[in-house]
Amino acid sequence: MQSETAADNGEEPPATRTLNSLKQFRSAGRGFWSDVSDADWNDWRWQLKHRITNVEQLQRLMPTLTPEEFAGATLANHKLALAITPYFFNLIDPADENCPIRWQVIPRVEETQTAPWEMTDPCGEDSHSPVPGLVHRYPDRVLFLVTDRCAAYCRYCTRSRLVSNASGYDFHPQFDKQIEYIRNTPSVRDVLLSGGDPLLFSDERLEMLLSQLRAIPHVEFLRIGTRIPIFLPQRITPQLCEMLRKYHPLFISIHSNHPRELTTEVREALGRLADAGIPLGNQSVLLRHVNDDPLVMKAQVQKLLLCRVKPYYLYQCDLISGSAHLRTSVRQGLEIMEQLRGHTTGYAVPQYVIDAPGGGGKVPINPDYVMSRNGEEVVIRNYEGKIFGYPEAADGTPLVAPPTEIEEPELV
Ligand code: SF4
Repeated sequence: MQSETAADNGEEPPATRTLNSLKQFRSAGRGFWSDVSDADWNDWRWQLKHRITNVEQLQRLMPTLTPEEFAGATLANHKLALAITPYFFNLIDPADENCPIRWQVIPRVEETQTAPWEMTDPCGEDSHSPVPGLVHRYPDRVLFLVTDRCAAYCRYCTRSRLVSNASGYDFHPQFDKQIEYIRNTPSVRDVLLSGGDPLLFSDERLEMLLSQLRAIPHVEFLRIGTRIPIFLPQRITPQLCEMLRKYHPLFISIHSNHPRELTTEVREALGRLADAGIPLGNQSVLLRHVNDDPLVMKAQVQKLLLCRVKPYYLYQCDLISGSAHLRTSVRQGLEIMEQLRGHTTGYAVPQYVIDAPGGGGKVPINPDYVMSRNGEEVVIRNYEGKIFGYPEAADGTPLVAPPTEIEEPELV
């Protein structure tokens, strides 16, 4: 009734206004860097060189740091380095302690607390690594780790044992050995380049890897996992896109968690990749204080489609050491999926997964739409809670009688 009243008054209903405002594209702006030239600001190497990397810089730019953040930033470089590009820093709301960008990149003292079930390698990557820097867990594909550096560091990173090298992991990929393993393993038809962030490499260095992989006859499919379009959209240059388009079929998975990250700069960068014929998917991590809210997630997936990106996975946050303050419940994840499936475009609905602790791989987690089944019938419910019976086919032969709806008045 409230929304009818608002509509009668010529106003948008509150829920619609919130969804729409979350979906607005805005520029990150210049913030503290207003006197920097356009050429420097748009130069990805300038952005990298001017990252915020220590507590003194952070506090100077953001005097509103909380005691938890100040302590976390002081300790950060012993575990997972602190780094934020000036561009991405401008997305932080310094007046809001619960700013969703802030929770993702500003260290907190809670990172030093490890629960008994947390791990340094929650996906068991090291135990599935036949060659340093190569993870071969699934039968037909490998994860090719190319670097331990990222443009900025996510406080919940599942590879925080490795990225930034703050905890002494000493990551040294050996490209010759990694490529040789792929060349000698004909079952590998799909190679995912990740890290760290492969798009931190120069165009020439990245092309050296892509061309060697493309020359292997059984490698059908190349993928790059990157958060650079979000942290550093300046890196997505026309020259990079021209180089990448030579290596099709090449897909890119980006990593974005909140609609505020999808700025006008990001939309343009993603458009350049899409114009180069690169199919784009997004991986989000479900994070407390960031996106554990059906409305935020609905805005996020709809905004991704506006950027020509298919929402691909929604990850339950891995049990990485020191991440309890950012994890939300599976119950909440299922609630979010309930609010997406059927309520918005099917292309916008990601697959919710848990990466099984210790190296079991991705397990799809879905609300229960199958209520029961036996040899004769499957009972299902739709997104509205209506219940239907679908006759099971015997011996693969479809039954002649059409499915009939089972009336469940209390649910309709
Ligand atoms: S960009 Fe990816 S690899 Fe790098 S810190 Fe973030 S989650 Fe980890």
